[in-house]
Amino acid sequence: MRSRLAGRTALVTGAASGLGAAIAARFSAEGADVIVSDLDGERAKAHAATLDGRALAIKLDVTDADSWATAIDTAEREFGKLNILVNNAGICLPGSVEDLSYEDWRLTHAVDLDSVFLGSKAALPLMARTSGESGGAILNISSISGMVAAGNMAAYNSAKAAVRHLTKSIALHCAKKRYGITCNSLHPTFVDTPLLDEFAGERSREETLQKLARQIPIGRIGVPDDVAWAAVYLCSREAAFITGAELAIDGGLSAM
Ligand code: NAD
Repeated sequence: MRSRLAGRTALVTGAASGLGAAIAARFSAEGADVIVSDLDGERAKAHAATLDGRALAIKLDVTDADSWATAIDTAEREFGKLNILVNNAGICLPGSVEDLSYEDWRLTHAVDLDSVFLGSKAALPLMARTSGESGGAILNISSISGMVAAGNMAAYNSAKAAVRHLTKSIALHCAKKRYGITCNSLHPTFVDTPLLDEFAGERSREETLQKLARQIPIGRIGVPDDVAWAAVYLCSREAAFITGAELAIDGGLSAM
């Protein structure tokens, strides 16, 4: 068993599926106690049961301030502290500025952006009070779509770009307060998770993934662990001097 996160308690949102599930699993394997949270509480429970270390599943709707308050109370009651928050839950509703409904625009911003504000606001008092000398970390899962736009991604581009900048504001706030808490953002390109089902359209899923892979210099799309390993590093003590930073995990896409 490795121990890069030993003694730390982490809350991961959207952790029943895809990137969040992989991050929760890697954190657990690195010795963290993990709160596996998701809108789908049953699937969160099923995933938490697969982890070897101490893990607690909770239902958490990241768009709802009351749901956040309950989650943070639970973290304090069950673990006595919170060191790491990973704001990972997200949705992707494709559509251009002309195609997209206002409801889908609002929903995308609620799940992908408001969640980061609500989660960080709810968690920081407990994190600041209980992280102690080992410090803490907030990690926001933005997207390469927060750096590079596409015509059919109006809401997703907007929300993920805002997460990128909100991250830096949170980082500077925490630095000024001397909380010892970092805040950084990850920017993955296409990663093979259920989120990509939205992109299939007329093609089979396999054909879609192959088409997406052809756009990536390294020649493949990502796997969830490509993101989870970066999360382990940025939430470990090894990264204590890295804050307000953004890391593209994109097989070279943004280098072109
Ligand atoms: P996913 O669909 O596999 O998982 C998302 C999880 O979030 C699901 O378990 C879902 O139940 C949960 N969720 C949705 N709405 C929620 C809410 N209101 N409250 C709490 N949980 C909620 O998707 P994924 O690919 O693992 O995406 C995770 C994050 O990574 C998202 O923020 C996404 O935008 C980002 N991302 C994904 C990719 C990709 O290609 N997969 C690329 C870049 C960024």
